[in-house]
Amino acid sequence: MMKRILNIAQIGAPVLRESTKRLKREELLSPPIQEFIDDLIHTMRSANGAGLAANQVHQSLRICAIEVKNNPRYPYRPNIPLTILVNPDLSPASELMFDNYEGCLSVPNLRGKVKRHCEIRVEAMDRFGNPIAETVRGMTAATYQHEVDHLDGKLFVDHVEDSKSSLILSTSQDRYFGKSPTPGMIR
Ligand SMILES: [Zn+2]
Repeated sequence: MMKRILNIAQIGAPVLRESTKRLKREELLSPPIQEFIDDLIHTMRSANGAGLAANQVHQSLRICAIEVKNNPRYPYRPNIPLTILVNPDLSPASELMFDNYEGCLSVPNLRGKVKRHCEIRVEAMDRFGNPIAETVRGMTAATYQHEVDHLDGKLFVDHVEDSKSSLILSTSQDRYFGKSPTPGMIR
């Protein structure tokens, strides 16, 4: 089966603001959903995304893909192996927060400074219905929070506290944040 590049919804599209449907294990294992997951991964990689949520490609399902592999859009980010989260639930594993610099394939040309939990616990299924229970930290934790926010109908711009100083054009990023912004970890 040829993998397809799916159309990415842009900010303003209602599908980005609606919460997504949980999948039963049998639904997840069905061929249409497995093909959809292949297309989601292919679309994320084609667009150089660090992650992509199903509702960003117009499917209101609680599934997201995450992968960072020498990403040209985020050269300073640590690599994350390909991860598919189905029905993810996140909870903070610590009170500590840090400033993360984020962009989004659904919010073209903008980067913003967003507060994220340093450490989060994730419970989910992988694409084959196996349970995932792990704790992730730092920028990886921020990426998980960004993607699961999508599945709850939220965008990173919702978290930007001071849009005048913290929401900027990606082409001006070097001027504002320095060439290799490292997050201000509070510890
Ligand atoms: Zn996004």
